[in-house]
Amino acid sequence: HSVERRLTHALTEGIIEFIEEDVEEARGQAARPLDVIEGPLMNGMNRVGVLFGSGKMFLPQVLKSARVMKKAVEYLTPYLERESKGKGGVRTFDGKMVLATVKGDVHDIGKNIVGVVMGCNNYEIVDLGVMVSAEKIIEAVRNESADIVGLSGLITPSLDEMVHVAEELERQGLAIPLLIGGATTSKSHTAAKIEPRYSGPTVHVHDASQSVGVARNLLNPQDRNMFVDSIKREYAGIRKARGERAAEKRIVPITLAREAGIGIEWARYLPPRPNKLGVAVFDNYPIRELIDYIDWSPLFKAWELKGRYPDIFADPAAGDAAKILLDDAQSLLETIAQKQLLTARGVIGLFPANSIGTDDIEVYSGEDRQTVLATTHHLRQQISKAEGRAHFCLADFVGPKHMGVPDYIGAFAVTAGVGIERLCAEFESEADDYRSVLSKALADRLAEAFAERLHERVRKEFWGYASTEALTNRELINERYAGIRPAPGYPACPDHHEKVTLFELLDVQNNIGITLTETCAMYPAASVCGWYFSHPQSAYFGLGKIGKDQVEDYARRKQMAIEEVEFWLAPNLSYDPELGGRL
Ligand code: SAH
Repeated sequence: HSVERRLTHALTEGIIEFIEEDVEEARGQAARPLDVIEGPLMNGMNRVGVLFGSGKMFLPQVLKSARVMKKAVEYLTPYLERESKGKGGVRTFDGKMVLATVKGDVHDIGKNIVGVVMGCNNYEIVDLGVMVSAEKIIEAVRNESADIVGLSGLITPSLDEMVHVAEELERQGLAIPLLIGGATTSKSHTAAKIEPRYSGPTVHVHDASQSVGVARNLLNPQDRNMFVDSIKREYAGIRKARGERAAEKRIVPITLAREAGIGIEWARYLPPRPNKLGVAVFDNYPIRELIDYIDWSPLFKAWELKGRYPDIFADPAAGDAAKILLDDAQSLLETIAQKQLLTARGVIGLFPANSIGTDDIEVYSGEDRQTVLATTHHLRQQISKAEGRAHFCLADFVGPKHMGVPDYIGAFAVTAGVGIERLCAEFESEADDYRSVLSKALADRLAEAFAERLHERVRKEFWGYASTEALTNRELINERYAGIRPAPGYPACPDHHEKVTLFELLDVQNNIGITLTETCAMYPAASVCGWYFSHPQSAYFGLGKIGKDQVEDYARRKQMAIEEVEFWLAPNLSYDPELGGRL
């Protein structure tokens, strides 16, 4: 086979072993080192791009191919530099993209994937990392003369930070195309809140595979205007539909919603008393014990492979890629466990607790229930419902104080991300984005598995209300147990700021080292926290939209300014706040 064919093969198959020899051979045959990049290497990557775009190749393979490309370019770089004044040539890109996870957010799996995929498609990437302020982003856009800027974020407060970045771009007179991505972002939010504030093109990208096409359209002088116009029309349509839908939703007064709680019969129920009250810390929890508790399905989602474990392996398109991904994940996990490359740390606490009439829960230091350690604030569904349907609130799952019910609540925080930075830096120094992203995704899986395992131990040992429970991995994932572990920031309790109370209650930072950013993202990113409720009727639900009356009441209870509450609950407001609240 010719060296061109071998290079294409190495790139499409992600084979790294012979890349330097092959590139050296190609360099010997080429007039300039640059010709190797712009000829066979680019041809190979184009082929990867086409296969990925048409669904014949999947993200894990693309990242492996990217590594081969990086290694090849790395090998050629000294030759390019040496000869750049003469005949070496300077590599040209299709465009330059600045990428950042916005201020307050620490999640970067999606951003990193987009960076690699764009890099494969001949875009130059300036990755600013995580927790990046609007000022830094704009400075980079200017200094780098970027053609496009991509913002990423996972937690809901990041949505507002993206609005802020858009406003700043506008204020400073920039018109660079803006791409929006990340788990909580949506076309709908981008259309409603971001695009109207910025005159440059603003586009939501659903996943990494979309980002390339969008960038191409935005930077191609022929297609650009038509593409931008069609986006503007589409987003205006979304805004209109949103407005109409919002008007349909009726909000009932919070006082009435409170009268329609789930109505547990506390007079006939004695809550189980925990075997071990107080706080317990688990340092250096054995990783091996967690492996059986892993829910693998979200791993495939992180890699944009559609399907659930284990059915995904039978998928005619993605099945093989999924199998290879799981094999790679399991072998990396084995290395992590054996060499102790990641450390798992957790803390739990079980406390006497009662709900008080205003949707809050008081947590007490002792069983005399005299000293309040903390008050956790909850929110109640307010969208009007059919007669007889409950307006859910988590506080309803804990026995009320006025009835003297001796109830309890639990709290937990776990991380499996201690050590992740070192591990990723090592992989990145070998141009191995594949394993870098894979280790982050694995750390997330381990954190969730740790939460699952500790919850099981709480039910069976520490609280002990289900001492004979024996559930399989699948049954645990399907939540076939009594009780729930709702997490602040999730649909039943969307206020991320309640993590501050939880962190104080368990002294999380001192005990296990997780910290909170200004928008209450947990760092390390591979961390989970939440409350434990034991009542068999406790269940997850989505809060949905709430009224201004509840927001005002909640602000009073939390002793927080209304604007700040509106900031934390922005996605749940049934009305447009006067001044988009900001910290
Ligand atoms: N097995 C999954 C678990 C994550 S999703 C994984 O490994 O990724 C399930 C968790 O999210 C729950 O345990 C709970 O902590 C949280 N959660 C899910 N739905 C929720 C809701 N409606 N309100 C609050 N928390 C919720």
